Amino acid sequence: MNKPEAPTSLSRDVAAFFAELGLPAESLSQGSTEIRSPINGEIIARVRFADAAEAKAAIGRSAEAFRQWRVVPAPVRGELIRQLGNELRAAKEGLGRLVTIETGKILSEGLGEVQEMIDICDFAVGLSRQLYGLTMVSERADHRLMEQWHPLGPTGVITAFNFPVAVWSWNAALALVCGNPVIWKPSEKTPLTAMATTALFRRAAARLDNIPADLVTLLIGGRDVGEVLVDDPRVALVSATGSTGMGRIVGERLARRFGRAILELGGNNAAILCPSADLDLALRATAFSAIGTAGQRCTSLRRIIVHGSVYDSFVPRLKKVYDTVTIGNPIDGSTLVGPLIDKRSYEAMQKALEAAAQAGGKVHGGKRVKGPGGDDAYYVSPALVEMPAQTGPVLNETFAPILYVLRYENFDEALALHNGVPQGLSSAIFTTDLRESERFLSASGSDCGLANVNMGSSGAEIGGAFGGEKETGGGRESGSDAWKAYMRRVTSAINFGHALPLAQGVKFDI
Ligand code: NAD
Repeated sequence: MNKPEAPTSLSRDVAAFFAELGLPAESLSQGSTEIRSPINGEIIARVRFADAAEAKAAIGRSAEAFRQWRVVPAPVRGELIRQLGNELRAAKEGLGRLVTIETGKILSEGLGEVQEMIDICDFAVGLSRQLYGLTMVSERADHRLMEQWHPLGPTGVITAFNFPVAVWSWNAALALVCGNPVIWKPSEKTPLTAMATTALFRRAAARLDNIPADLVTLLIGGRDVGEVLVDDPRVALVSATGSTGMGRIVGERLARRFGRAILELGGNNAAILCPSADLDLALRATAFSAIGTAGQRCTSLRRIIVHGSVYDSFVPRLKKVYDTVTIGNPIDGSTLVGPLIDKRSYEAMQKALEAAAQAGGKVHGGKRVKGPGGDDAYYVSPALVEMPAQTGPVLNETFAPILYVLRYENFDEALALHNGVPQGLSSAIFTTDLRESERFLSASGSDCGLANVNMGSSGAEIGGAFGGEKETGGGRESGSDAWKAYMRRVTSAINFGHALPLAQGVKFDI
């Protein structure tokens, strides 16, 4: 079908925000790759993709920026991130709206994503006065052991479409205070939010003196450009967020050159609903985690494991929520579920639902519904699938709002189902029984990187380290001590005496 060529309200919104940021109007019509809003399928820009030669040249400039930036005192580096946080505060409305236009997530989530960027900036400013190492006692007389954390080198940040700017900020705010320049390869589906964020970064940098050029480089392009970052030994660390399929390739290629990796990959997150659970609370938490963001969060709830004693009171209530949730234009304040990102995503959802039905699943919902944009936008009612067993599509992450419901009778069985998938990102338990919640959080409980009690699997705060195990990739970013992955640890032994005792009592007298 023909696409509207004349500027409509979404492209006008985008152009107005770009003008506010001082970005030239031509930046929205520079190339041949069409960027469409999932809200109505409208073309909102045509961008140019970088090629491998440009990517290599950018890495060279980033390596030069590293030589300058690594010797700037960390608290001075933190001042740049303070300025970035201020720019984000001022632009929160516009950038949040652009996130919604480019990804289709509801406006409050678009704004929440920018708030998350502001939060990590605050965190990183504080961190810039810490970056602490330990001192350790030595076994040798008149000796001291200590460690320092030094900048690592240019950091490649490859991001996914669903958190087009927050994931960049989790990485970039830490990398920059740690002394590393950043080269950003955003999702090919969401270059506009990346362009806007980079413009805000440049504004922040312009407020200060002596900020090296090319401290943050934006490379808009496809996986070929990402692969240049992955293969180039000048890129000391690659933090890659996306599907497990992408991570398998990136992880192997990085390992081949001993490059450092932070892999943040797919999840298949589950919650266990126990007999003692507060069902009202569990209902709201389940709805937000499973339906929110149209099931397009890495932490979206994909499986709920329900005890037989509460199954018949809980599942029908959940179905009612599925039937009544507001689906539509994500800019409209009353909408809770926006569109899927594109047609491929819709088709993957339908394929998973067919496979689930073939495996004996009872499918509720999951049908295409009409949105504001005619045939070029993909809105669906969220799907709830009651499964007889954890088989087939239940073992995979389908990046769409599908919640598989499984029944259990004893807690060990629930834990075995919970952990019985290849992914290990986020997890939750609903219970008021201390023994169950503590067991869930213990070494023999959830095998995920994130484990929540009486809340859903999604909606993490920046203060904790974020990431997951198994096929989720093992990386950690954001809060706690995740910053250590962005630095080089140096352990030093210092002899302040006159003798030279050797460790472990070794004798070597000459
Ligand atoms: P995707 O894997 O299709 O793409 C992610 C990024 O990787 C894009 O920038 C893409 O261009 C790049 N890429 C793809 N192949 C590459 C290669 N061989 N070398 C280098 N770069 C390559 O993912 P998507 O569809 O954009 O995002 C959805 C996926 O991301 C889901 O699986 C979701 O769970 C995951 N995700 C994970 C987290 C997390 O923190 N664990 C956060 C957000 C999204």
